[in-house]
Formats: sequence, C-alpha cells, structure tokens
Amino acid sequence: MSELSNTYPTDALQALDASHHLHPFTDHGSLRQEGSRVIVKGDGVWLTDSDGKRIMDGMAGLWNVQIGHGRTEIADAVAAQMRELSYYNTFFKTTHPPVIALSEMIAKLAPDPYNQMFYVSSGSEANDTVLRLVRYFWDIKGKPNKKTIITRWNAYHGSTVAGTSLGGMKAMHAQGDLPIPGIHHIDQPYWFDEGGDMSPDEFGIAAARKLEEAIDRIGEDKIAAFMAEPIQGAGGVIIPPETYWPEVKRILADRDILLIADEVISGFGRLGEWFGSTVYNIEPDLIAVAKGMTSGYLPMGGVLVHDRVADVLEHTGSEFFHGYTYSGHPACAAAAIANLQIMQDEGVVEHVRDVAAPGFAKMFASLADHPLVGEARTKGLLGAIELVPNKDSRDRFANYGDVGTICRDISFQHGLVMRAVRDSMILSPPLVITPDELEWMGATVGKVLDETGAELKRRNLW
Ligand SMILES: *Cc1c(COP(=O)(O)O)cnc(C)c1O
Repeated sequence: MSELSNTYPTDALQALDASHHLHPFTDHGSLRQEGSRVIVKGDGVWLTDSDGKRIMDGMAGLWNVQIGHGRTEIADAVAAQMRELSYYNTFFKTTHPPVIALSEMIAKLAPDPYNQMFYVSSGSEANDTVLRLVRYFWDIKGKPNKKTIITRWNAYHGSTVAGTSLGGMKAMHAQGDLPIPGIHHIDQPYWFDEGGDMSPDEFGIAAARKLEEAIDRIGEDKIAAFMAEPIQGAGGVIIPPETYWPEVKRILADRDILLIADEVISGFGRLGEWFGSTVYNIEPDLIAVAKGMTSGYLPMGGVLVHDRVADVLEHTGSEFFHGYTYSGHPACAAAAIANLQIMQDEGVVEHVRDVAAPGFAKMFASLADHPLVGEARTKGLLGAIELVPNKDSRDRFANYGDVGTICRDISFQHGLVMRAVRDSMILSPPLVITPDELEWMGATVGKVLDETGAELKRRNLW
C-alpha cells in the first residue's frame, strides 16, 4: 500500500497512521483514541480533509504558507530544477545556480547590511547555527569567555537540543534535561498575563530591563548574545508593548553583545514588511529565517548575517566547522525563488500591509466586545484572542488551558483551523487572504466564541 489516495475511507487511513506514525508534539494515547485528522488537499487558504470537508487554514499550516496552498508555479519550478540538478552539496567550495540566485534575491529583499546567508533546512537548524556561530564569533574576536546566550521564558526557538534550550518552554525543558549550559532565560514581555498593575508601556520597559539586570549580574564579558522573536509566536502571539524593543536597543547600544532576531515566523511578510526586524527597528546581528521562505512547499531556512559579523568571519583564516548535507538544497532553493517571485510579482507584502492586516485588525477589534474575550490583539497577520471568565479583569479560568482546547475543537467543527495556546486563540492566516475570506473568518470566530460560551456553561466551567 505505497500509494494512498483520498479514495481510502478515513477510518482505514487513521488506523494505518495510528499503527506506524509517531507524530510531533503529540500524546499518542489520545491520538490513537481520537484518530488523526487526514488532510488530502490544499487550495489557497482552504484545506480539504478525507471526508471532503473544507476547512479554512487559519494558521497557514504552521505559520508558514504565505502564498496559500496549491500554487502550481512552485511545483513546476521544483520539477524543472529536479530534472536539471536534483541535488548537489555546497561544501568544499562548490555551489549551483539556484542557491546563487536565491542568495542574491534574499540579499536584495533584506535591509541593506544583510548580504550573506547560511542555509539550513528548518528553523531549529537555523537556531542551532546561530548558537554555534555566535560562540565561534567571540572566539575569533579573542573573547572566548563570551558564551552565554540570553533568551526568554516562553520563547520558541525550535525543537532540537539547541532550539529547545534556547527556547523557554518549561515542559520541553523537562524532557531531556534541558536547557544545555550557557543559556539564561529572562521574563517575557507578556503584559496580559504578567503586567500586573503596570500600563503596557511601563511593563514593556520593565520587561526589557530584565535583560539589563541579567547582563549586569552575569557580566557583560560572559554574554555572547541576546536572542528573541520580534513577536513570540508559539508562546501565544505575544506582541510586546511598543516600549519594549526601543528599551532593549538602548540597553544593548553601549554593550558588546550580539542581538539575534528569530524571524522564523516574522520573516517574509507576515508583519506587512519583508522582515519583522524593520517593523520594530531591531537591527540585529543575525536573523534566523525558515517557514515562510518557501511558503512550506519544501523545507528550507537560513541565518542571515549582518555585514559587521560577516566581515569578522571572512578574516579569520580558519574554517567554521558547521553545515548540513542539505544546506542550500537546489530543489528547495528553486521553491524559495518561485515563492519569493510570486510574493514580489503579486505584491503580497503590500497586500498584507494595506489590505489584509487592517482588515484582520478590524475583525479582531469587533471580537473584543465578546463577553469571553479579555483582549483581542493583532500585528500584521498575527492575532491572539485571550479567553477569560471576566472580561474586566485579566484573571484566567480555573483550569487554565482547557477552555482554549474546547474552543479550538468547536472552531474545527465550524471549518476553521484556530490554534489554542493555553487559553489564547491564535490566528495566522496565509498572507494572500482576501477581504471576503477575512469576513468569513470573522463571522465564524464570532459563532465559535458564542458556542464556546454555551459549552462552558453546559459544563459548569463559566
Ligand atoms: C517554528 C519556529 C522555529 C522552528 O522551526 P522548525 O522549522 O520547526 O525547526 C524556530 N523559531 C520560531 C520563532 C518558530 O516559530
């Protein structure tokens, strides 16, 4: 049974999946009981499951399908590249046309001082590369004691050993005795949950000063870098107060510490500019990218390197002993080129900035009045709805996390993929979403919230 199609009945597909497939981030006991959802087709912002049900992909896959599903131009570009040169490596002073073309394209799209890209196959690998690169950088500079990387609790930087360690997910750390040494976590700028009596702006400054306190306590001579997502994604679309990034920059301005932006989600258009770093004026030394770079059509990522770091690397006389078999894979590079070409030709980033993001923000503003909603926030095409028992306080439901799961399941029944992060409902649609589709999404979320409220009352949870 090597070729399965959607002509197989769903329960047969589910049984086979349950027998042989270990899924990522999954409790397999409960998955076996409930059965997997089988997705068989994608088209624009829509998915079709094995029962023929159409579902709006409100998460753009895993935050990555910028141009929507099913674009045949990408399939054609990849097929053509595979016929020409399906694989060759980029080790040992070799290269090939697709990776050359892609590198030039990205250097042009990126802000001026970013002209060099190190290729990987995923966001996790990008962050592993970052960890090795910053430590190597400080060794070259003759400061081998600068090894500690400061990151934040509840950050997501991937799931490899380095990615998990850099990330601040305590449940992930608990499995596998992580983090590895040399990583220090500080508080996140999550005003809704942790802001207490402060205004968001006051809290943004206070959260940034956690960085200053950590540097002063550990010692600047031991700190290699501060690494952060411009907006935390998997942590719950945590949009920092407007005061946060300027204060981080003030703190780092006169300190000899690298700044790393994990733009695996915010890179390639999601915030209405090509890079989230320019939205927040972050000016990092390294930018980790992946996800939207190919719109998920094939796996690819990279680390975009600022000229001031690249200059150091070029004058070492030594070799950076790092790379992957698939660094700069030609078929993935062809997918990335085709994806970025579509985004440029069709003005996808301008569409986000001028049409989709304002529409999305308006839709969220209208949901904010709902009695279950404590806050509905967006930036670009990232949005979060905080579900709370009493909208006038920021207190949480007693069983924090259960309400989000209930809401997510109801949303799926209504044909909309929304993700639950504890009791925050997350949306991150394809960048090409149209005003009509946004209207459908808003109306559906409204119904889902009503039904979630009714279900909570039925279960005596509200
Ligand atoms: C998804 C994600 C990663 C990890 O990317 P993978 O391709 O899943 O390894 C890293 N950082 C951020 C911010 C992400 O959202």
